[in-house]
Amino acid sequence: MKKETVDVLIIGAGPSGAVSAGILAKNGINFKIVDKERFPRFVIGESLLPRSMEHFEEAGLLDDLMKYGFEKKIGARFLRGEDVCWFKFNDKFTDGWDWTWQIPRAEFDKAITDSLESKGIKIDFETKVESITFNGSESLSVISDAQGNKTEVHAKFIIDASGYGRVLPEIENLEAPSVLAPKTSMFVHVKDSNKPEGIEGPTITFDVLELEHWFWMIPFSNGITSLGLVAPSDYFPKNDSYDKESFFRDIIRRSSYYKDRFEDVEFVFEPKQIIGYSKSVKKLYGNGYVLTGNSSEFLDPVFSSGVCFATESGSLAAKLISKQLKGDVVDWEKEYSEYIAWGVDVFRSYIQDWYSGDLQEFFFHKEENPEVRRKVCSVLAGYVWDKNNPFVSKHNRAVKAIANMIREGKNS
Ligand SMILES: Cc1cc2nc3c(=O)[nH]c(=O)nc-3n(C[C@H](O)[C@H](O)[C@H](O)COP(=O)(O)OP(=O)(O)OC[C@H]3O[C@@H](n4cnc5c(N)ncnc54)[C@H](O)[C@@H]3O)c2cc1C
Repeated sequence: MKKETVDVLIIGAGPSGAVSAGILAKNGINFKIVDKERFPRFVIGESLLPRSMEHFEEAGLLDDLMKYGFEKKIGARFLRGEDVCWFKFNDKFTDGWDWTWQIPRAEFDKAITDSLESKGIKIDFETKVESITFNGSESLSVISDAQGNKTEVHAKFIIDASGYGRVLPEIENLEAPSVLAPKTSMFVHVKDSNKPEGIEGPTITFDVLELEHWFWMIPFSNGITSLGLVAPSDYFPKNDSYDKESFFRDIIRRSSYYKDRFEDVEFVFEPKQIIGYSKSVKKLYGNGYVLTGNSSEFLDPVFSSGVCFATESGSLAAKLISKQLKGDVVDWEKEYSEYIAWGVDVFRSYIQDWYSGDLQEFFFHKEENPEVRRKVCSVLAGYVWDKNNPFVSKHNRAVKAIANMIREGKNS
């Protein structure tokens, strides 16, 4: 078997692994990045948060991504029947990016990896990590290419950015149950043949169909729009052999706002389903490895936090590894685990408050408090480490308190 020695092996070239690669390259670290797929490949996760723009920038990817004309996302609209709630990222508490993109991930992730390759970073596509063994912090991974040729890769550090591949959580027995109730999502891409002119056409929207059922509508700049439903898992048929297209067309008819626009549109593929998508792990790092992006924790799609965490953790992991390889001491518990866990905890509070109805009470309350909205908007833009924002620092009670005040006001 062929042998290779590198300082760092990155598993996965999605946003997390790609941002790590860009930063390791800037720091002059010797690394190898592999992905089991050939890009473009489909993955869900199409609504970004402004915070990720900082990570694309520091990884040296942003200038290239700007050239593609991806649909600009300046905020998000939430609907519930006749109620409408808008958050615009240019009116938020924390300084930072006030726009981002809504993107077909196949093309976006290909654009990212093309950008890396244009800087001379080689990506081994169609190359799967099959096994990993550790000897202290040194690892030996067996990788296999499309022709079945195997190579032993010796690395001082592994960044596991394998997303739902969850390579190290499985090998190292790191899986932990998510505290969130099991939910399922079904989604499809459609040809948006009735797309209205003007601002309405590209406006990303989340339509609340009932308390725990919400529908997403994410229009791309290429004429395709992503539609999806999130609901408790028991809403979907148990047997997988049902007619998914007619089931999804019934879902579209549940959205009074969108049924006319999408009732007869052509589906680009049969609706896909991800059952029980929330994932968690016992720990985020170990001797010689770190988990980033979806291979660590995934909460829920409702606030589009997935890619933001993928790029945040990919960026931080790469910086800390660079620091350690240059001889500095890294406190992984404090500098990585506690930092990432804080952001996850903030979003988890908002997700739980969404499904309990507290956050929806605030979103759809007619008498708006602009200061509170600006603070919540920062969270929705991904700025969940700004502890000057009380809606970050008191995340586990701030929304509940507001919802209770609104309910008391209604009852008095
Ligand atoms: C229903 C649903 C909707 C979502 N919507 C959103 C959204 O709107 N916005 C958002 O930000 N997030 C969303 N997400 C989350 C988003 O999909 C993920 O958070 C994001 O893709 C994670 O990026 P990543 O780089 O960690 O992993 P990925 O993008 O999944 O990349 C992982 C890569 O690792 C490769 N890989 C896996 N196993 C191996 C192996 N053994 N060897 C080599 N390579 C391997 C894969 O081929 C893949 O390319 C959603 C998730 C779900 C379930």
